[in-house]
Amino acid sequence: MDKKILLNESDIPTHWYNIVADMPNKPRPPLNPKTGQPAGPDDLSPIFPMGLIQQEVSAEQYIEIPDQVREIYKLWRPAPLFRATGLEKMLDTPAKIYYKYEGVSPSGSHKPNTAVPQAYYNKQEGVKNITTETGAGQWGTALAFACSQFGLNCEVYMVRISYDQKPYRKVMMNTFGAEVFPSPSDRTQAGRNILAEDPETSGSLGIAISEAIERAVMDEQTKYSLGSVLNHVLLHQTIIGQETIKQLEYAGDYPDVVVAPLGGGSNFAGISFPFIKNNLTDGKATRFVAVEPASCPKLTKGKFMYDHGDSAGYTPLLPMYTLGHNFKPAAIHAGGLRYHGASVLCSQLLKDELIEAVALQQLECFEAGVLFAKAEGIISAPEATHAVAQVIREANQAKEEGTEKTILFNLCGHGFVDMLAYEDYFAGKLSDHTISDELLESNIRQIESLQPE
Ligand SMILES: *Cc1c(COP(=O)(O)O)cnc(C)c1O
Repeated sequence: MDKKILLNESDIPTHWYNIVADMPNKPRPPLNPKTGQPAGPDDLSPIFPMGLIQQEVSAEQYIEIPDQVREIYKLWRPAPLFRATGLEKMLDTPAKIYYKYEGVSPSGSHKPNTAVPQAYYNKQEGVKNITTETGAGQWGTALAFACSQFGLNCEVYMVRISYDQKPYRKVMMNTFGAEVFPSPSDRTQAGRNILAEDPETSGSLGIAISEAIERAVMDEQTKYSLGSVLNHVLLHQTIIGQETIKQLEYAGDYPDVVVAPLGGGSNFAGISFPFIKNNLTDGKATRFVAVEPASCPKLTKGKFMYDHGDSAGYTPLLPMYTLGHNFKPAAIHAGGLRYHGASVLCSQLLKDELIEAVALQQLECFEAGVLFAKAEGIISAPEATHAVAQVIREANQAKEEGTEKTILFNLCGHGFVDMLAYEDYFAGKLSDHTISDELLESNIRQIESLQPE
């Protein structure tokens, strides 16, 4: 049995897989918030290049990856698939556990898989500057890297709490040539409004998105880029699952369950969509489990409604599981999972019961992350520990039931720049969080007026 299953560069997928083509219920359209009508390409063109807008609305099953993008992918792809022999032994489970490791990328997570094509299409259309937001700093680092590959300027609005907690992420972005501002900032109206209300705010992804969009709308040569949630982002990530299918073929295996953390949905989509295709078109019966933090439980406690993707309400209204765009998540360390909504595609799949969701507390996740580090030698990003914790639950269940099963999960990033989180965990400074029903209901009430007739 091989510990790690490697592919050749020629095995890097040539196409992205678009699940829209195979979904039994197509996602509902985004709406223009001013007219309430379906938002078309014209609504998106002030902020995105046409190449990405076409992918955003595409129903074609496969979309070809440009050669220049595949060349850059070669820096870290194909990513390794590991058999978690150490973890299996530690848990004494009959389950077989595999993990796809996306921490080998330049920024240490799956995010460059989409940052590179996004920078590519912007460059193609003559864009000079790209603005974006970042939570924990993973996305900002990935986009800063991608922009450096194409000679584009990159301006990053970083959620205040992460800017303070994760100074090295900022330095990484600076190293790739990006400018980084703590958000809310005084550079935008959206930021100034929030600061006037609450000068001490720790910020949120929703606010940072508003700031980055506002900057892009102000300037013709500037576009905006989003690291998760949107269809084209999820599309780009499907190279993860396509590679994994091939790797598991070499191992002679196929997953009974696929597990990944879900912030906006991109790494979950990346590993699971190509396998979901096999459920939909090839009679396979794999389960898919998205893991979210109990402190930001849009999938398990949110409502399927139209909502904005940002706090200021600049984005089209998206039909998704949401906690309301004014939701302010607790300051947990898994920054990438603190977003108020889930992607339209993942939301529709959950609504149609083609995927499952579970919410876990952060202490269980860190405990799992520490166990995994000892068993497998990789320190997981706090986001990824959510998948590890669920995998441990699945493996323990297999042991109790005495059933063999094959578990696959996405180890979407390493935690080398998140050691403060582990330090706080070891010092006993972290606690579990559950959001109150009152808070949840009041946030949802605020978006009821946004629903179409
Ligand atoms: C950004 C990020 C996430 C959450 O985003 P998704 O779009 O849900 O994947 C999870 N893990 C890591 C390591 C991240 O960088």
